[in-house]
Amino acid sequence: MDKEMLYYSTRGGHGPVKPSEAILQGLANDGGLFVPTHIPAFENTIDEMCKMDYRELAYSVMKLYFTDYTEEELKACITGAYDEKFDTEEIVPLAKVGEDYFLELFHGPTIAFKDMALSILPYLMTTAAKKNGLDKEIVILTATSGDTGKAALSGFADVPGTRIMVYFPEDGVSEVQRLQMVTQKGANTRVTAIKGNFDDAQSGVKRLFADAKLKEDAADAGFVFSSANSINIGRLIPQVVYYVYAYTRLVEAGEIESGSEINVTVPTGNFGNILAAWLAKGMGLPIKKLVCASNENKVLTDFFRSGNYDRKREFVLTTSPSMDILISSNLERLLYWLCEKDAVKTAELMRELSENGSYQITDEMRKSLSEFYGGFATEREVAFAINACANTYGYVLEPHTAVAAVVSSKYQEVSGDETPMLIASTASPYKFPASVLSALREKADADWKELMDKLHEVSKVNVPKAVTDLYDAPILHTGNCLPEEMEATVRAFLGLQ
Ligand SMILES: *Cc1c(COP(=O)(O)O)cnc(C)c1O
Repeated sequence: MDKEMLYYSTRGGHGPVKPSEAILQGLANDGGLFVPTHIPAFENTIDEMCKMDYRELAYSVMKLYFTDYTEEELKACITGAYDEKFDTEEIVPLAKVGEDYFLELFHGPTIAFKDMALSILPYLMTTAAKKNGLDKEIVILTATSGDTGKAALSGFADVPGTRIMVYFPEDGVSEVQRLQMVTQKGANTRVTAIKGNFDDAQSGVKRLFADAKLKEDAADAGFVFSSANSINIGRLIPQVVYYVYAYTRLVEAGEIESGSEINVTVPTGNFGNILAAWLAKGMGLPIKKLVCASNENKVLTDFFRSGNYDRKREFVLTTSPSMDILISSNLERLLYWLCEKDAVKTAELMRELSENGSYQITDEMRKSLSEFYGGFATEREVAFAINACANTYGYVLEPHTAVAAVVSSKYQEVSGDETPMLIASTASPYKFPASVLSALREKADADWKELMDKLHEVSKVNVPKAVTDLYDAPILHTGNCLPEEMEATVRAFLGLQ
């Protein structure tokens, strides 16, 4: 039986390519996203998967998508990624709080869920480079509004054959996020503050990618640019694993019967995490409803209700910044599958989005959306939920996860659906101490170290090592520049003329 998986662009202009090529490339040449030709079914039964630990399960899921990696290669990627970097043997523990199950995806090196994918991406990429005979050093260029930058730095630091440059907006990240980045170790890392906002940093990086002369000079010196952002298939697939793992732990703990359905709620921004849950469902995981939780930037809520995606609206800054997004890039993959892999149709919708800022899907496509429920939480509801959960259960949520908790309850209320609910918990409260403490009506304007002590006092959860490591870590990156000086910083880092 031929089990080779190939990848095509959602817009039809690129492919087929092998899995390792799709990972190396990131984005397809026509601007589309790579999607597998089909969604594979699990090869193991649920009961077999219940006996596996996180790494074994990761292999049994990922081998179905990354078919041109040998068993040895893929297992080496998995063991390299999911090791003591995570502060628990389980990698992603479950917490039962009231009737719900919180899947804690924040036990990695940067205490947010992006570690789940960014700890393995460097291994997948460098293995892909070897497989494809790429003789150049990979240079990752990333603009960050906070979480992605540190997770990518931590994943790529000291990985042979790679370098990574991260740009962050000087006044646009929290003190903890800034310290996490400027104390990053690793001779192959470089962090630069941009005198501007996140958009300046982001457009600056896009300009670097589009600069043909820079690309040519870099190639002559033995470098090739790549990106670690969330549209890479090498970030999406590893996220499928933890939904399957959570299900098997619920079965093992006797909370559910093998084969019975669960619901899943995901706090959503770029639509990557919830798309991974949808893929898990497509592979055979008994998921009934996928609850897509948004903050006040509720483009997706409106989309699920009306079939109309409209980004022409005011951008709201919330306490869940990683979900402050008006264009959810990974939705393009869902659209492609909804219209039965009609790449022409998908390309047309994406063109409408970029030209008019909105698009409307067909009634046919809308029907398939019924496995999703879209809802949003206001800032008041988020603060209230953090407070209520701490008071009732002694469990402290951070704002992104609280958005999910609010929308999960709303769904249960309107539907009367009592199926067990799994909630993706995407960050540690220690990542957002000021928002959490002010929701708990504690003093939140003190020095950041005092905030950590206070949070420890109220949550009874130990301050994670990722935070205590920052207390006396030396500042290793002091560079800053204007957006127009970014090219010069790349040239300097790579030793180009
Ligand atoms: C990135 C992020 C999200 C959103 O995830 P998507 O895959 O972009 O939908 C939610 N919460 C936290 C803490 C994040 O860092």
